[in-house]
Amino acid sequence: MHYPEPISKLIDSFMKLPGIGPKTAGRLAFFVLNMKEDTVLDFAKALVDAKRNLHFCSVCGHITDVDPCQICEDKQRDRSLICVVQDPKDVIAMEKMRDYSGLYHVLHGAISPMDGVGPEDINVPSLLTRLQDEEVEELILATNPTIEGEATAMYISRLVRPSGIKTTRIAHGLPVGGDLEYADEVTLSKALEGRREL
Ligand SMILES: [Zn+2]
Repeated sequence: MHYPEPISKLIDSFMKLPGIGPKTAGRLAFFVLNMKEDTVLDFAKALVDAKRNLHFCSVCGHITDVDPCQICEDKQRDRSLICVVQDPKDVIAMEKMRDYSGLYHVLHGAISPMDGVGPEDINVPSLLTRLQDEEVEELILATNPTIEGEATAMYISRLVRPSGIKTTRIAHGLPVGGDLEYADEVTLSKALEGRREL
């Protein structure tokens, strides 16, 4: 079917979002046409503002609108602990749990030789720099319980060992192959509590 160009452009835009196929995109596009103009403008502005004003913290890699982020700047937090995660969404999951008061380091991925992703392609070098400058005593490796996540945790643990900083791995109990962000708060809290030294 041929739509007027503005509609097909809108449909194409929705299809760029994850999990949105042509049918859903069409439904969303027609829904937008029926929205009030003010609402549509607010919506468009929220998209642009989020993209323009949010960036990654230069210290920990979490998403933030100020640099360093609020977590890195928070003097109440335990600076001897860094929890290493794959994704900003994992920080949000950990923060929801409220049991953890240390700092974070977001890798933005995991080592995956099959996909050509090495340690240099994710935030590993910045982690090492950080460990030299800050007074860190323990690194909690909370990468996902997947092959890539496990390999990344092992790699970092080996890399850090000579420095004498303790590395721990969060306990299983997290569903294998699952993502940290989908774990419920109790499971995540137990996984953190039951972490073991590597
Ligand atoms: Zn930060």
